[in-house]
Amino acid sequence: MSEELHIDGSEGEGGGQILRTSFALAAHLGRPLRVSKIRAGRPKPGLRRQHLTCVRAVAELCDGTLHGDEIDSSEVFFEPGTVKSGEYHFSVGTAGSACLVFQTVLWPLLFAEGDSRVVFEGGTHNPFAPPFDFIERAFLPIIKRMGAKVSLSLERAGFMPAGGGRFVAEIEGGCTLRPTDLCEAKPIVSRRATALVANLPGTIAIRELREVRNLLHWKNEECLPRVTQDDGGPGNVLLLEVAREDVSEIASVIGIRSLPAEDVAAIGAKAINKYLSDNVPVGACLADQLVVPFALAGGGSYTTTAPSEHTTTNIDVVGRFCAIEITQTVQGNATTMSFASL
Ligand code: AMP
Repeated sequence: MSEELHIDGSEGEGGGQILRTSFALAAHLGRPLRVSKIRAGRPKPGLRRQHLTCVRAVAELCDGTLHGDEIDSSEVFFEPGTVKSGEYHFSVGTAGSACLVFQTVLWPLLFAEGDSRVVFEGGTHNPFAPPFDFIERAFLPIIKRMGAKVSLSLERAGFMPAGGGRFVAEIEGGCTLRPTDLCEAKPIVSRRATALVANLPGTIAIRELREVRNLLHWKNEECLPRVTQDDGGPGNVLLLEVAREDVSEIASVIGIRSLPAEDVAAIGAKAINKYLSDNVPVGACLADQLVVPFALAGGGSYTTTAPSEHTTTNIDVVGRFCAIEITQTVQGNATTMSFASL
């Protein structure tokens, strides 16, 4: 067993991603790990339900030893075993993001021998986390192009505060990720606005989409209401999606009680207009989420705007585990990240 790696969770962005990236890579590479000062940069530091689910899930996948896995804990120790593919069920137990749990366990399972089927429960559309649709239509297509065989199916959306979302991932193991390049902002080939409304009046979707058409001049057939009634909690998200030939961006706004539907649309329109005027292929959130797969592929490059703190912190964390050089080349408002194995 190799030497224990110590990660200071307060460094850089100081959030949950440091912990999730560290656990995913520690399990995949068989590296004992201690993470201290967990989420020290957040208003409620330490392990919350989502982070606890992530670290326990990774430990379960590989029969690892875990210490300090309690709510509010600021330090965890993890000694990984061998990752096993199979059937798993990870439930956050609150409305915490199940999508972030998926993005954590994906890496160890993708490289394990054999295939896995994993059920995730919790929030699927959360603030400060990738919505299910972003994972499915922005993140996953890139990973698939790099060689991963993964499929997702959403059974039920889950919103704050009720949670109760559920989706299933089929992950083929034994993957070798191939480098890819996403450096050119190719023309937009399709646009789609989706107003998802669960267990709330459908007029919310109608108002949001009317305002999207006003502000962005998208066509009627590009604006789709998705109104569901089930036994889950109430919730609303507006998803504004633009697809290039090789990459998509999805701006999302979670509707909350104090925010009129028209304001939800205005926030979303501003975000997608910013992406379009930046004229880069990879949006800011996708940019931080691609650091791990590009590092594991040992090559490739992508162009985004000025890297966010999530991106620079993820680069630092990945550099502690992988022998990879990541070069950033700035040209105007665009930054190209180039990955090369050392
Ligand atoms: P952390 O704040 O450290 O828990 O990390 C949050 C993760 O969620 C980062 O990978 C962000 O890029 C991602 N994220 C946050 N908001 C969005 C969003 N609206 N769309 C896509 N990804 C998001």
